[in-house]
Amino acid sequence: DNLDTPIATTTTAGNTSSEPMRACFVVLVRNSELQGIKNTVAQIEARFNKRFQYPYVFLNDDYFTDDFIQQISSLTTAQVNFGKVGQHMWGYPSYINQTHAATQRAVLAAQGIPYADSESYRHMCRFQSGFFFRHPLLDAYDYYWRIEPDVDYHCDIDYDVFRYMKDNNKKYGFNIAFREYMATVPSLWQTVLDFQKAHPEVVNQLPQPKDSLWNFVAGDDGQSYNSCHFWTNFEIASLDLWRSNEYLKFFNYLDRAGGFFYERWGDAPVHSIAAAMMLKKDEFHFFNDIGYRHTAYTHCPTEPIYRDKCSCNPNDNFGKLIECQ
Ligand code: GDP
Ligand code: MN
Repeated sequence: DNLDTPIATTTTAGNTSSEPMRACFVVLVRNSELQGIKNTVAQIEARFNKRFQYPYVFLNDDYFTDDFIQQISSLTTAQVNFGKVGQHMWGYPSYINQTHAATQRAVLAAQGIPYADSESYRHMCRFQSGFFFRHPLLDAYDYYWRIEPDVDYHCDIDYDVFRYMKDNNKKYGFNIAFREYMATVPSLWQTVLDFQKAHPEVVNQLPQPKDSLWNFVAGDDGQSYNSCHFWTNFEIASLDLWRSNEYLKFFNYLDRAGGFFYERWGDAPVHSIAAAMMLKKDEFHFFNDIGYRHTAYTHCPTEPIYRDKCSCNPNDNFGKLIECQ
């Protein structure tokens, strides 16, 4: 591949910047998922990053093994940082009643919901909701691309997606939207409404519902959550969005309510509801050109111009996002 090829970006915001982008891949992963994450990183390098050399930040609630660090580092010439997640970002806050949490896990497990009885999954969702963007290894960056083990990236991406985000004033990029298991978030929406009532100073800073994506998540005229969310296993977004006072107040309010542990609030509905509330519609970007598979679901661009860039079958495309399936 020719590294000297000029990068064409379409710009609506006017000034196209040329200073280096402060952006990285962020990867929360366990040592046991080494093979799966090698598969993902190899695809990211081949499809995108061999041209752009963005650094990676690997995070784990445990120490990465020397073998893990060595095998990952050998996949890329980009910088790779490995970090451990500290106790206050991965553990029970003092105000959580762990006995009650255990009882509630058993209640959810009886309903056959995925990860219903998993404590680590709850710590993971809380970390992805409220902490990854505050990990010291991310301080150097303004944008991130979240990647996971055992996913596929199907298409060549020959422009700088981070620069695209910046130049077009995009704050949140996604490519799959889906319905949440409502049993995992029964009190989330009411907590969001309570937050809005308790924090008018935040609500006053936010776009009007008609200018935001509020209606992407609001059901029954705003009385309930319609269960739509963007899948956060792929995310290209602004770190400032989550570092804002508005979001931090929102996250702290949710965290205090206890639903990360007493229910099983996912980072996907939390990010999606927050972004839908806090961003203007045109600050979202649908990355149609980034073909992607996570578990059984694939986003594959269907337009003929992608045929030579992508290895996925357009017939496998998950479908129309706006209805969120
Ligand atoms: P799913 O996509 O909702 O099925 O959840 P995953 O099992 O894929 O987990 C989401 C992300 O968090 C993946 O990148 C996992 O590697 C990571 N992850 C999940 N649980 C843990 C954990 O206990 N420790 C660490 N270090 N990473 C985790
Ligand atoms: Mn996953």
